[in-house]
Amino acid sequence: MKLSRRETAELLKNLDGKILITTHKNPDGDAIGSSLGWFNFLKNLGKDVKVVYRDRIPYFFDFLPGVGEVETKERLDERYDWVIITDVSEVRRTGFEEIPAENALVIDHHITAQPFTDFAIVEPDISSTCELSYELMLLIDPGRITYEVALPIYTGIFTDTGSFSYNNTSSRTLEVAAELLKKGVDPYLVRFNLFERNRINRFKLLELVLRTLEFALGGKVAHITVYRKFLEEAGALLEETEGFINYPRSIAGVEVAVFFKEIEENGWKVSLRSKGKVNVAEVAKRLGGGGHRMAAGYETEGSLEKVKGELFKELERELKAV
Ligand code: 5GP
Ligand code: MN
Repeated sequence: MKLSRRETAELLKNLDGKILITTHKNPDGDAIGSSLGWFNFLKNLGKDVKVVYRDRIPYFFDFLPGVGEVETKERLDERYDWVIITDVSEVRRTGFEEIPAENALVIDHHITAQPFTDFAIVEPDISSTCELSYELMLLIDPGRITYEVALPIYTGIFTDTGSFSYNNTSSRTLEVAAELLKKGVDPYLVRFNLFERNRINRFKLLELVLRTLEFALGGKVAHITVYRKFLEEAGALLEETEGFINYPRSIAGVEVAVFFKEIEENGWKVSLRSKGKVNVAEVAKRLGGGGHRMAAGYETEGSLEKVKGELFKELERELKAV
């Protein structure tokens, strides 16, 4: 059942019993911000709540309140009365084999979302799950939006809007950010923790990855690749490739940037970024993933050559249409 903001607020306010919050695998700023924002907010409301992720939290989010209480597990073995799933609508992308769909609520903003739960609120036009969460919290009890809630919520909005610069940034997004600053959020603290603590290994990795830069489809597509052997050579983690895709995207004449990430032998995570003409959410959806018009992704198997061939065929079609 798709819920309105008011219905969702009502539901959340009245949640009872043991509550679990989770999000998607390889959690990003919006996933971590929204789940920790809800964790701290629901605790402020006196509820019994816990956060479990499938994957580890990248170190640059270690400053967020509540981060130390997050558990990382392969399986959800306990029983809960309610499950809240933020920033994701497909059970497969939570990384867990199973999440009960009854008494589960999805809070998401992906245009490709097809929620598997009985209850869901999905707003594809809003910048982030964090912005949507803030609006819901305002309806529930604005007085419980403490600093511990505001900081993760601000962080998720900041990361999903590319530091308030992508076209998902609305005037309301900036009003929400201003309200969060009034709760004590220091914008430089967020920027510092996310962007000013790089390890030198990240630059060793960037050097290796930039050497793979190639163009396709008459220069309209630029792509880069990270192989597992690069991670070993640089002593870096996959999460340290965050932001690398901005380099191919930034090249004049490029419409779509692609980042192929080797997760395992013949297993690939593909990230797509558009400058606006091509709807990469559609492309990713056709290949088994999803996302937004300008940022999307999917996972796939096979040789890199095969993966590239399939993707470029889809992109060629899209580029012809623009
Ligand atoms: P990123 O490239 O940063 O991993 O993801 C960019 C956007 O695409 C995010 O909004 C993310 O949720 C979405 N996305 C990335 N990978 C997948 C995927 O495998 N499945 C789906 N449904 N969405 C994805
Ligand atoms: Mn998001």
